Amino acid sequence: MRFNLKFVKLKNSDFFMKTIKDFDFKDKKALVRVDFNVPQSADLKVTDNTRIQAVKPTVDKILNDGGSVILMTHLGRPKGKVSEEFSLKNIVPEIEKVLGSEVKFCPDCMGEDALNMTGNLKPGEILLLENLRFYNEEEAGDKDFAEKLSKYADAYVNDAFGTAHREHASTAVIAQFFPSTKFFGLLMAKELEAIDKVLKSGEKPVTAILGGSKVSTKITIIENILPAIDNLIIGGGMAFTFIKALGGQIGNSLLEEDKQSLALEILEKAKAQNVKVYLPVDTIIADEFNNDADRREADIYDIPEGWMGMDAGPKSRDLFNDVILNSRTILWNGPIGVFEMPNFSAGTVALGDSIAEATKLGAFSLVGGGDSVAFVKQFGYDDKVSYVSTGGGAMLESLEGMELPGVAAINN
Ligand code: AMP
Repeated sequence: MRFNLKFVKLKNSDFFMKTIKDFDFKDKKALVRVDFNVPQSADLKVTDNTRIQAVKPTVDKILNDGGSVILMTHLGRPKGKVSEEFSLKNIVPEIEKVLGSEVKFCPDCMGEDALNMTGNLKPGEILLLENLRFYNEEEAGDKDFAEKLSKYADAYVNDAFGTAHREHASTAVIAQFFPSTKFFGLLMAKELEAIDKVLKSGEKPVTAILGGSKVSTKITIIENILPAIDNLIIGGGMAFTFIKALGGQIGNSLLEEDKQSLALEILEKAKAQNVKVYLPVDTIIADEFNNDADRREADIYDIPEGWMGMDAGPKSRDLFNDVILNSRTILWNGPIGVFEMPNFSAGTVALGDSIAEATKLGAFSLVGGGDSVAFVKQFGYDDKVSYVSTGGGAMLESLEGMELPGVAAINN
């Protein structure tokens, strides 16, 4: 398996290497890379503070030790230009609200002001640096820029899982300037632990549920996770390429014509690795891609011309439910129907219910990557699963077996 988490050891389901838990920050300044790339309204107010909440435990630990925290992040895509719209000044009130402390603001992440303000920071204080991406050097992974940032603090903490797949100055390059004082924050540790549980140390049977629209975007994930899983549930739009390849009539359902042989190859590979694959057996079809379209149930192999499969049917929901309730570790990526349309959300809701029930019975469940995360939040399942990943792209790349630059920089 290509998945690789060097140096990350688990003990009683807990990381004990390279996380901030093993360092006493008393009288130390910690430069903490966070991902405060938060959604904002037209008047620049924060509309979802999940990413700020997610790093509170890390900030609290450092402050409780008697250290000080210098927060650094990017916001949006200012592409190396200073702009009012992307200024972090606009989100300071929300950060203060969530962290429950005053947050000083430095209007430039470089230069005299930054040196003075970081130099004068006292234990217990928090300082936020202005948007790192006001400098092109950040995304370019510029070493001098990273070194300048490193001068502000005694320790470097990466708690930005959402940008861990980027090799930027503040997410990866900077770590070399803290050879013995670089750590994962508690959010990063939780994310890495969750992935590790699914792909390496999870209790069996392990079930992966992959949905969403396209097979092409999930192939690398499927190939990488096959050695780690016992069951693979394939749903959503991508299932129809498999059904067509297996000889089914899929009407106007989503199809990636040129991926049919690949779909068959995946089924072969799964069989060779003793992974049981579950495809939907029935579907809710519609006569157009519209919430108010005419709809009815159909056998997945027998969809009439002019109709398309939009959601998992009741027999598929039962089938998936049985597999999920018999699993001890569950990974879910991608909705199994067009959940954005209320008339076609029932299959994905039923799947959410099954995963919630399995979790209640003691299974570990990880929801990661893109639309399934949007789904669990929108439908209130975020408290009913074990872990919801905060990093879309970073989670997907991890599942694809890539070592994230932000992770490698701490580990190596
Ligand atoms: P992805 O970004 O590939 O994970 O795909 C997520 C999208 O897949 C969501 O917007 C769903 O509406 C869509 N989706 C799920 N099932 C179907 C389906 N049967 N037909 C068309 N789109 C679907």
